[in-house]
Amino acid sequence: MEKLIVSFDDFKKDKKISVQNKKMFFPLDEKDIVKSADLYYSFTAQKYDDIINVTGEIKGKMGFECSRCLILFEQNVNISFNCSWTKEEFEFDLGEELRQNVILNIPAKPLCKNDCKGLCQVCGNNKNKKDCFCEQNAGNEFVAEKWSKLKNLKI
Ligand SMILES: [Zn+2]
Ligand SMILES: [Zn+2]
Repeated sequence: MEKLIVSFDDFKKDKKISVQNKKMFFPLDEKDIVKSADLYYSFTAQKYDDIINVTGEIKGKMGFECSRCLILFEQNVNISFNCSWTKEEFEFDLGEELRQNVILNIPAKPLCKNDCKGLCQVCGNNKNKKDCFCEQNAGNEFVAEKWSKLKNLKI
């Protein structure tokens, strides 16, 4: 997110600044968990004597890679935020505030759905789409191999 500096000087004419549905730039390399971002922010900043209060929201979509089955999926984003700063601070980077709010909303382990079954460790099949029994069979083969080695032992 680019800097978005708001200072007390911005309120010389009006005590209130409103911004609606502006495209938010969110760099994807920031967290490589995020594959796409289509985000828009709106806010109202209100100046009082020595404090500025901001209420706003960030809406849109973010794309993630499922941490279990690796498919790409999109999730709706709907974040509300509040912040304020005082005259001593003078100016404030609202861009950083927006960025932090989006980062807090990024799941540590994205899942395409809560009960995603993931990929088969053996054949790579997406187990959400169809069942395979490789893992069970692999277990059997392992046992079979063990026995065949025993059979080959020369006593
Ligand atoms: Zn998944
Ligand atoms: Zn399999």
